[in-house]
Amino acid sequence: MTTLFISDLHLDTGQTALWDQCLDFLRTEASQADALYILGDLFESWVGDDDPGAEKHRVINALHVLTRDRQVPCYFMRGNRDFLAGDVFAAHSGCTLLDDPTVVEIYGQPVLLMHGDTLCTDDVDYQEFRALVRDPMWQQNFLAMSLEHRQAMARKARDASRTQTAGKSNEIMDVNQESVVEAMKTHKVRTLIHGHTHRPGVHEFQIGNTKVRRIVLGDWRERGSVLRWSTVGLGLATLPR
Ligand code: MN
Repeated sequence: MTTLFISDLHLDTGQTALWDQCLDFLRTEASQADALYILGDLFESWVGDDDPGAEKHRVINALHVLTRDRQVPCYFMRGNRDFLAGDVFAAHSGCTLLDDPTVVEIYGQPVLLMHGDTLCTDDVDYQEFRALVRDPMWQQNFLAMSLEHRQAMARKARDASRTQTAGKSNEIMDVNQESVVEAMKTHKVRTLIHGHTHRPGVHEFQIGNTKVRRIVLGDWRERGSVLRWSTVGLGLATLPR
């Protein structure tokens, strides 16, 4: 049996092939798994639990079938796009919400799970923005606005972020190695799994005399991506679309 990890699907309106691939993955491979972990940015945008339209409902229903009918535990960590997914989303999908960061045990090994954006500490502007929108008062005020207003604000924020990221170097937008080491030391783990950077890979290095690894999940922009972890080992795979 296998535990699956995915992130950064960025499900967005109109991308039919992407939604279909996600639904197909939930119905087939995921339904055979020991557990499914979604480590953020499943949705390109989520401005509150009253947000979902018909497309999002299809995915929520597929998650519900997976968790309730197939009895596959599904864990959802919010990313920087869908950080407002809340208790109503959790109840409807059957997913268990995970804090970022969280340590879980996978086949006997403690593993640190993160979305990954908090490790990008060289991107000072982004960290300031993140601190603002994760503030409970800010979220309370935001959620009190009309759905249309929130959607318009999210569109504006995405356009601004696109302009900003275009002007930033690749190094600034990747994780900071010192922040990685600090997180792994704090949580006393030898394995870290995260997404967000869209740079899939397995990075092995040492902290002192201890061999550790950082596994980065891939995004689903052009094809699917999954980390499969079973009792015999683990591997990143791409899923052709
Ligand atoms: Mn992200």
